[in-house]
Amino acid sequence: MFFSLQDYLAKLEPMVNVDCGSRTPEGVAAVADYVTALYQRIGYRVTRRQFSDACGPCLEITNAPDAAQYDVMLSGHMDTVFPVGTAAERPLRVEGDMAYGPGVSDMKAGVLALWYALKDLPQAADGSLKVVVCYNCDEEIGSPYSRDWLVDTAKKSACVLVAEAARANGQLVKARKGNAKYRIAFHGKASHAGNALAEGVSAITELANWTLAINQMVDLEAGTTLNVGLIKGGTGVNVVPDFAEAIVDLRFWDNDAAEGIDAHLRALADSPFVAGCRVEVERQTFKPAMRPSADTEALIALVEAVAAEQGLPIGWQEAGGGSDANFTAAAGVPSLDGFGPQGGGWHAASEFLMLGSVEPRIRLLQGVLARLAARG
Ligand SMILES: [Zn+2]
Repeated sequence: MFFSLQDYLAKLEPMVNVDCGSRTPEGVAAVADYVTALYQRIGYRVTRRQFSDACGPCLEITNAPDAAQYDVMLSGHMDTVFPVGTAAERPLRVEGDMAYGPGVSDMKAGVLALWYALKDLPQAADGSLKVVVCYNCDEEIGSPYSRDWLVDTAKKSACVLVAEAARANGQLVKARKGNAKYRIAFHGKASHAGNALAEGVSAITELANWTLAINQMVDLEAGTTLNVGLIKGGTGVNVVPDFAEAIVDLRFWDNDAAEGIDAHLRALADSPFVAGCRVEVERQTFKPAMRPSADTEALIALVEAVAAEQGLPIGWQEAGGGSDANFTAAAGVPSLDGFGPQGGGWHAASEFLMLGSVEPRIRLLQGVLARLAARG
């Protein structure tokens, strides 16, 4: 394959220089239009899916339009975390062997790398490998609208490769922690703190008890962590507070442990610390942990064999943050992540793409696809 970094950057630029936060549907749609044209040019069928007007479209792209099963699902997201105005403020900029810009590494570089890998796939592999590419619009907010579609498509696929960035040290990702966010609301009874303290029920006292109880649920060794990260409550210093709220972050390696925490929180709500208090527990987001199964280990070995063949040093990371690979892995489909070019500084102005890694990572992906085709 002939590869021109200049050509790659020219194609990347319009994808970076557009405001396409998860809640900027028109920006995500512009990226989708652009990506659609690229794939149509190489003969892939593109189907647009609009799951909610609150977000942009998703794209389902395949070289096997009527297939019931795919050999591989490739995936990436078109949205970023950045507000409108960011693209104009700091558009794509190349400096030495780095490129900078909003979403350049998370993950426009990976979105484009998938296309490059497929467009130059060796004839033999292209003929036999049934590929589906899913680009979603809402990954950065937890994929609330695209999640079911991603999981359904993954279930029709033998494996899933996600093109989030490889780490700056070259590592790919074979495991990711699960996470959840809870909103806990405490309802007490207001009363005058001076005249009728005993008639009140303090929501803040209840919240304080919960904070201590939640800290007790942390199991650092198992990697199950909880953090009461935000609290609010009360209306005045002389009023017994009738309302308080806590937002809690949960991270875990073990999906059963997460369900255990969930059950524990709900049991606590059923028997409040302060008599007369009412507590509501709401799990606002949930992403299961991604742990490698035996089938995933086989896929890891395949990737390592290709990397060794190419003389490309790689390694594997167990990442704390989640991606869409968490959902597909939890559905039982072997899933690996980090197939994009190397980078870092995600979700910050310092976000960078390592230009020297672009071609080697596209070749790695291509080598893996060729080997999957040969495996049949
Ligand atoms: Zn990402």
